[in-house]
Amino acid sequence: MQVLETVAAIRAWRASLTRSVGFVPTMGYLHDGHLALASRAMSENDDAVVSIFVNPAQFAPGEDFAAYPRDLDRDLALLERQGIDVAFVPSAAEMYPPGFGTSIDVGDIATRLEGASRSGHFRGVATVVARLLILVRPDRAYFGWKDAQQVLVVRRMVTDLSLPVEIVPVETVREPDGLAMSSRNVYLSPDERRAATALSHGLFAAQEQFEAGERDAARLRAIVEDHLRRERLVQSEYVSLADLDTLQELTTVDRPAVLSLAARVGKTRLIDSMRLIPDG
Ligand code: AMP
Repeated sequence: MQVLETVAAIRAWRASLTRSVGFVPTMGYLHDGHLALASRAMSENDDAVVSIFVNPAQFAPGEDFAAYPRDLDRDLALLERQGIDVAFVPSAAEMYPPGFGTSIDVGDIATRLEGASRSGHFRGVATVVARLLILVRPDRAYFGWKDAQQVLVVRRMVTDLSLPVEIVPVETVREPDGLAMSSRNVYLSPDERRAATALSHGLFAAQEQFEAGERDAARLRAIVEDHLRRERLVQSEYVSLADLDTLQELTTVDRPAVLSLAARVGKTRLIDSMRLIPDG
């Protein structure tokens, strides 16, 4: 595996290739969710690149940028063992050289949910993802459904700017008890870790009712909210059931939809989501 640290190096590597390239952007501290994306990228392309960059621009002031877990040696060992061709691990100075001033605003879809809770978050995400896509020039880029709004925001940007890449969303990888894998799960104390199962269990309970025919969005949201309320250590921030393209809130689930939530478990902010697709 090649470990590339500079913009010049990744561009030179890409320019030397004519084969297909799959790309997985990450912030590192890799877990099986990231590795599922990496393995899809490997199986569907000739070469696979994983980037590791804790992007300061997508953290709002007061968020966990400084504390965000990092372990580059372990990450590189995991990627090497998977058979990834290139790890791209730029510094902040490399991604945002002096004078860097451009930012990408994806519009309405980026102002909802996570965008409303985390000021500037999607501007930071869209800007860094656009820059990475331009540097790596992948045929396909892989994103996890756990961050469902991120998938929709990136898709919107790629469509609006006609970027020549296919965005491939990948199913959420979960712990055996249902908790969505996340680098932030290491913040949880044992009690918080137990309480955190309320997030996925709420989504699963709503999914079950949806599959049994429930189409009333308020009732489906209420199932999730009830699960979150039952756990003393869990503080719900939002529960949304929205159109899977526009993220507009629904009253009836009569089209592809995404049920998503953000909650604090102790001091740790976690998100999770589930797509609900009516037949026909
Ligand atoms: P992150 O390092 O948290 O920025 O995540 C990098 C990519 O991995 C994003 O596309 C995430 O949506 C995806 N990802 C994170 N956790 C999971 C998971 N549990 N299952 C699938 N994909 C995930």
